[in-house]
Amino acid sequence: MTKQLLATTENANNQNSQYTSLNDPEIANVVAHINEEHLDELLGFLSVFTSLSTAELDRVDAQITDIYAEGITIQTRQKNSKYQPTNAQDNPLHDQIFFINFATPISQLNDLQAQYILLKQRADKKLGKKTIKLTKQVFDVQNSYRISKNMLRLELSMPSLDDAQSSDDVQLRNTKGATISTSVPTNEAGYAYLFDLEHNATTNALMTDSDEVDDHKTNDSEKENVRPTRPHCYYTLRKAWQADDGIRAWVDVFLHGDTSGGNWAAALKTDETVVTKREFPEKVEHLRDGQAVLIVDETSMPTAARLLELWSNPKPPLIICVTQDADDQSYFDTVKMRSSLDSTGNNNSSISIDNKIDCDTETHGNDHFAVLPIVTNQANSGSGLATLIDSTLGDYLADDPLQIDKVWGALEANTAKALRQLLRERLELSRTDVVVKVYWRHD
Ligand SMILES: Cc1cc2nc3c(=O)[nH]c(=O)nc-3n(C[C@H](O)[C@H](O)[C@H](O)COP(=O)(O)OP(=O)(O)OC[C@H]3O[C@@H](n4cnc5c(N)ncnc54)[C@H](O)[C@@H]3O)c2cc1C
Repeated sequence: MTKQLLATTENANNQNSQYTSLNDPEIANVVAHINEEHLDELLGFLSVFTSLSTAELDRVDAQITDIYAEGITIQTRQKNSKYQPTNAQDNPLHDQIFFINFATPISQLNDLQAQYILLKQRADKKLGKKTIKLTKQVFDVQNSYRISKNMLRLELSMPSLDDAQSSDDVQLRNTKGATISTSVPTNEAGYAYLFDLEHNATTNALMTDSDEVDDHKTNDSEKENVRPTRPHCYYTLRKAWQADDGIRAWVDVFLHGDTSGGNWAAALKTDETVVTKREFPEKVEHLRDGQAVLIVDETSMPTAARLLELWSNPKPPLIICVTQDADDQSYFDTVKMRSSLDSTGNNNSSISIDNKIDCDTETHGNDHFAVLPIVTNQANSGSGLATLIDSTLGDYLADDPLQIDKVWGALEANTAKALRQLLRERLELSRTDVVVKVYWRHD
């Protein structure tokens, strides 16, 4: 599967010539993106597909250096070394390059995603981690309504699983007799689905077609017009639970103008189906202990809400909630945190909360979470927002010197990138303790 290429970068170019270049100018951007967002996956690849030991991996960072038709090259470097030359005897893993083969060679960069996902699935499986799934799921729309000014809740359902409910992955037939696979996690925060927006555009177009007297009226170019600009969009499973008649789920969609995702969600009608084509778990394992801060905008409020409902860390988190509109801050008003005293996880008793931070009042205690609101009156993106979040946290900690051990957040790409760095410095935390995900990109 893998081959350690070289101990120095000096000879890398000669050696790498045995692999086929993809000659695509986009590779540099993809490489930068993977290095920025997916370090833990690269370390996972090294752990599973090379002979490096856990102890060796603990001492290194990794970065992808190139993408070839046959696979990717990953370079190890001593943690925090920033490529300063190091004595090879002190750290023989500094500046070594490993080659990770794809299951099937690719001929263009567009095929990378499928091969990368396969690598990730194989690595996660070996490491015993939950992984990305490429399964199709079908939900029925039960209802939709606003839960704050700009947040639309979709209530979804899945057919009853009868006696097979205890199984994690269940095959069942829908009303039309087709076999579908279903496993909806009821106990996971931040589990995300990639919704197929084109499914509903096509269904609606077909329904319009059948209503037309003149069949020829809806031609191919008219059908093209009903396609959303975005073919799919990620939304989080806000919550899922087993009801008497099957699985019920909530998905909360932030409406921010005339966009594909928002228009799709707003147009959904009761009994319509929605289809998902990919799903993956969120990275929140590090929040099990220590004092955590959760940093969210409108797109990640659903993840934080579910995290609170399932909270098992004895210390309640601090939440920094950034919204464009003050009226969306009410999102957390009805969210109840699982009591930290509920150690069994079976007792569903939840505590009522008065969680907004009121100027100088301390509201975080053993059984309360606190929300530090930031209202920006503009779309929440860019590095300026990262500075605002960092300084707001700094001011808060100056008044209330909490020791923050863990961070989870999900924001716009440029905000996330800038914030990771600021928080690591402010809180003196490692990369693994500061997880700030990208949930959307500003055009
Ligand atoms: C793992 C994951 C989970 C997610 N969960 C949720 C969720 O539960 N609920 C949710 O609402 N979103 C969620 N998102 C974010 C959502 O997928 C993006 O916001 C998506 O871009 C929305 O699509 P759109 O069609 O509305 O806008 P796009 O087609 O992406 O963009 C259209 C325009 O809107 C702007 N834009 C996009 N998103 C935002 C935003 N959030 N605020 C302001 N301007 C924006 C863009 O810059 C662009 O100008 C999640 C994303 C990920 C990766």
